[in-house]
Amino acid sequence: MQQLLFATHNHNKATEIQKLLCDKYIIKTLDDIGIDTDIAETGTTLLENARIKARYLHEVSHSACFADDTGLEVDALNGAPGVYSARYAGEDCNSSNNIDKLLRELQGADNRRARFKTVIVYIDNNNVEHCFEGIVEGQIIRERRGDGGFGYDPIFVPNDAKGLTFAQIPTEEKNKISHRGKAIRKLVAYLSEQQ
Ligand code: IMP
Repeated sequence: MQQLLFATHNHNKATEIQKLLCDKYIIKTLDDIGIDTDIAETGTTLLENARIKARYLHEVSHSACFADDTGLEVDALNGAPGVYSARYAGEDCNSSNNIDKLLRELQGADNRRARFKTVIVYIDNNNVEHCFEGIVEGQIIRERRGDGGFGYDPIFVPNDAKGLTFAQIPTEEKNKISHRGKAIRKLVAYLSEQQ
């Protein structure tokens, strides 16, 4: 089995991807290989941040590896919070604070169109970068609905989920249509084609 390093401290994400991968690869996170550094996400785009994380890991490991970055783009806010989605309401704020700020900013807005976007950068054994993107289009509703999920899930209704928010559908259903699910499946398809 080939080792594939993932520049994350999030074991849930790693498990999700491992489930989709063929037996040929085994995912190892930063913690699995003894790296406790929080890689600073100093980029101004999702691609830059994914690249910064993947490059860091490749430089310390010299192994095939990948990183991801996700953002929520709201049309009425010219694409905000975008790359700053995790810290929209401030550095020490949580998801609930971020949602409160987003709903405040959208007060009175009729255009509620938004999308989640995930970018994955994979660096192969020859130091060549490959990028994969997943997008899910939807709407920001006016108040929270549902207890599941995380982040902005309670206020995001994807276009193809019968009016339910991401927080109202089981994780497995969410993964089938989500930004991250789509990007991951593109990575997995690419890896499956490699010898
Ligand atoms: P990350 O790049 O995966 O860490 O995502 C950055 C931020 O985007 C997170 O802190 C969440 O606020 C938000 N986010 C990412 N994916 C999702 C999702 O599937 N649902 C809701 N919010 C998300």
